[in-house]
Amino acid sequence: AGEVAFEDVHFAYVPERPILRGVSFKVLPGQTIAIVGPSGAGKSTISRLLFRFYEPQAGRILIDGQPIADVQQVSLRAAIGMVPQDTVLFNDTIEYNILYGRPEASMEEVAEAARLAQIDRFIRTLPEGYATSVGERGLKLSGGEKQRVAIARTILKGPPVLVLDEATSALDSFTEKEIQDALDRVSEGRTTLVIAHRLSTVVNADEIIVLDRGQIVERGHHRDLLAAD
Ligand code: ADP
Ligand code: ADP
Repeated sequence: AGEVAFEDVHFAYVPERPILRGVSFKVLPGQTIAIVGPSGAGKSTISRLLFRFYEPQAGRILIDGQPIADVQQVSLRAAIGMVPQDTVLFNDTIEYNILYGRPEASMEEVAEAARLAQIDRFIRTLPEGYATSVGERGLKLSGGEKQRVAIARTILKGPPVLVLDEATSALDSFTEKEIQDALDRVSEGRTTLVIAHRLSTVVNADEIIVLDRGQIVERGHHRDLLAAD
C-alpha cells in the first residue's frame, strides 16, 4: 500500500492564473520522491491537493489506484502523514507532543519514534515558552529540531504515505544533514514525498522531479541531474 499518482493535474487558485499545468508522476509503494524547484513553482500546492485542501480543475490524483476524490476525508488523513514547514508545539513535554500523533500509543512506542527522528535526548523537556509553577524555562528548539518532533509524531501515527515539506528556515548546514538523516530513517519502507528546497538534502531520493512554473521540466536521480547541470 502507499502508491501515489498524479495524472495530468491542472490547478489554479484563481481562474486567470494557472499554478499546476499538467503534472503527472507516480510514486511506487516505499519509494521516496523529491520535488524541487524555484519558489512559487507549485511544490506545496501538490501537497495541498494530495490532502484535498483544494480540488484540481482537471486530471486525477490516486492513492493505491483509487481517485482521492472518492476517498473519505478521514481515510485520507489516516493514509497520509504530513510534516508541515512550520511545526507548532503544544505546551507540554516533547514526549507528549509526539504522543499526539497517536494518543493510544505506548510510551515505548513514543521513545522509539523519537529515537528514529534522533530527538530522544530531550523528549522529557518542555519547549521554550512553557512556564511551569516551578519556574522551569523550557528548551529553545531550532527549526530543524521542531521539524523532527513533527517527524516523530508522524512516525508514531504510522501512515503508509509521508509528505514532508522541508523547512527553509531550518536549513543551516548542520540541521540540513540532520533532517536528511532523519528523513532517510523514516522514509524506510514508506512512500515519501519530500518538498525540497535544496538538492543536497535529497541525494538519496529514488527520483527527483524538477518543477518550474507548474510543469515538470526534468526528472531523474540526483547524480543524473547534477551531470546535466
Ligand atoms: P512553492 O511551494 O513551489 O514555493 P506554492 O505551491 O506554494 O509554490 O505556490 C505556487 C504559487 O501559487 C505561488 O505563486 C503562490 O503565490 C500561489 N498561491 C499559493 N497559495 C495560494 C492561494 N491560497 N491563493 C492564491 N495563490 C496562491
Ligand atoms: P489528526 O490529529 O487527526 O492527525 P490534524 O488536524 O492534526 O489531524 O491533521 C492531520 C495531518 O494533516 C497532520 O499531520 C497535520 O500536520 C496535517 N495538516 C493539517 N492541517 C494542515 C495545514 N493547514 N497545512 C499542512 N498540513 C496540515
